[in-house]
Amino acid sequence: MKCDKCHKECRKIAGTHHYTESGLDNVWLLNMPMYECDCGHKIFEIPAFMQLHDFLAKLIVEKPLDLTREEVKFLRKTLHKSSKELASLLEVSPVTVSRWESGKSKISHAYQLLLKTIVYTHFKHLIVENALEQMRKEREKIERQIKKKTIELPLPFIAHKALLRYRYANA
Ligand SMILES: [Zn+2]
Repeated sequence: MKCDKCHKECRKIAGTHHYTESGLDNVWLLNMPMYECDCGHKIFEIPAFMQLHDFLAKLIVEKPLDLTREEVKFLRKTLHKSSKELASLLEVSPVTVSRWESGKSKISHAYQLLLKTIVYTHFKHLIVENALEQMRKEREKIERQIKKKTIELPLPFIAHKALLRYRYANA
């Protein structure tokens, strides 16, 4: 890893990083890979960035306490929604969302629950989408193997085995 500032090679170190870039002020990443240059510049490398953000969103959704303004904003970003889009989804004005996120007014308990439910549903949807995508990939792989007349079947596809054998035999 080269330094952004002086282009010298950096040393790899591991350290604790107060992850304020997330928009949350109470997240510390332990043993995070970092690169340090002789000039004092540090480069951070956040492994599995998307998974980390999803994990943080899940922690926020599951916590029983009131959402902070930072957490409201974090959840909105998790949904990939603008303030205006979230406002329209929750049937409030965009000004209301801005006020929640700037801390000018407190988000009510009912809206907290609604927002948490929307994020929760978003993740459920993602899980289903990922499973379907995985199945599509496996299926395509099997189709290619059939064309090449060699078949390796992963365990979850036992149900298809008989059918595929039949197709293979008749190919
Ligand atoms: Zn440097």
